[in-house]
Parts: sequence; C-alpha cells; structure tokens
Amino acid sequence: MTKLTVISGPTAVGKGTVVRYLLNQNPNISLSVSATTRSPRPGEVDGVDYFFVSHERFDQMIEQNELLEWATVHGVNRYGTPRGPVVDALSNGRQLILEIDIQGARAVKASMPECNTIFIAPPTFADLKTRLASRGTENEDEIARRLVTAEAEMSAAGEFDHLVINDEVAKCASGVLDLMQE
Ligand code: 5GP
Repeated sequence: MTKLTVISGPTAVGKGTVVRYLLNQNPNISLSVSATTRSPRPGEVDGVDYFFVSHERFDQMIEQNELLEWATVHGVNRYGTPRGPVVDALSNGRQLILEIDIQGARAVKASMPECNTIFIAPPTFADLKTRLASRGTENEDEIARRLVTAEAEMSAAGEFDHLVINDEVAKCASGVLDLMQE
C-alpha cells in the first residue's frame, strides 16, 4: 500500500474539494499543511489551510532545510511542504496526502520515487476556465495569470503515475482512494 500520495493538477480543477471530501470520509488519512507567502483568503485558518508566513520566514525555512520541496506558483507566491510532518507520518505508517503544484510533485517524485503521484484533470479545458472565473476568489489579473499556468500544468499530466478526471467530486475522490489502496 502506498503511504505517500501526491495530488496535483491545474489550478481551479477542484483538487482541494476532492481532497477535503476524501479526508472527511477517511479520518485515518492525513493532509500535509503547506507553508505559503500568500495572504489568507476569507475563512482560511493559519495552521489548518496553510501556515501563512512572511517572505523572511520562508527564506529561513529554505535555509534551515525545513522544506521537503518548495516552488513559486503562479509567478508570485512561494509554497512549500514542511519536511517534519511528512517524515513523522511515514515513520508512523500513516497515509499522507500532499496537495501541491506540478513542480512540487516532480521534486517529491525525484526524492521519494516510491510515492504515488496522481493528476486530477478537468473534463475539458473550457470547464476549467468557467470554474476559475466563477470561483470569485481572484481578481482579473490573478485569473489571467492562473490560466497561463493552467495550460502548462495540463501538459504535465503524462508525467504522473495516474490520472483521475474530476467530473464529480465523490466519484473522483473514490478513484483517488482506490489508487491509494494499491
Ligand atoms: P492556492 O493559492 O490556490 O491555495 O494554491 C495555489 C497552488 O499552490 C495550487 O496548485 C496548490 O496545489 C499549490 N501548492 C499548495 N501548497 C504547496 C506546496 O507545499 N508546494 C507546492 N509546490 N505547491 C503547493
């Protein structure tokens, strides 16, 4: 059974919703909480959704080798996976999910080839555009920036161990869970 699962996919594909659904149904599975330099969105809680940190603190985390991987995503903010909780979960035999971007997925696969990488894809690219625009959490500049990243992200799908299409949250979550049980 694979203990470390890396879930990635283009922006706004709904990975967060799929992962939350999966965690609610399976309390034995944990999610790694990333550090980010981006500001919290309304309702996001520090230490739960992310560790919201300053650029100075992020630099320090890199210097002190506290991050398993990190990347600049959408050209502005940095995001990284704290190393300690991953090591702890794996040494305790817990199933752990990392929900990170493509660059992060590549880095984790390179350093831990035994991990299972899963790409969540939208049914179509048009569907992704609609989701991004209707989410209402980003301004126009940010939406445009994320669409550029999304195209590049879609072209990386073939690098992953598995691909699951998110046409319906419960179905996608169960597809991911099946792959985690392999
Ligand atoms: P958002 O700002 O919408 O929360 O996340 C933007 C992107 O950053 C998403 O694609 C998400 O998967 C990615 N991300 C979140 N945490 C990490 C991380 O720790 N490392 C990397 N490489 N990407 C991350």
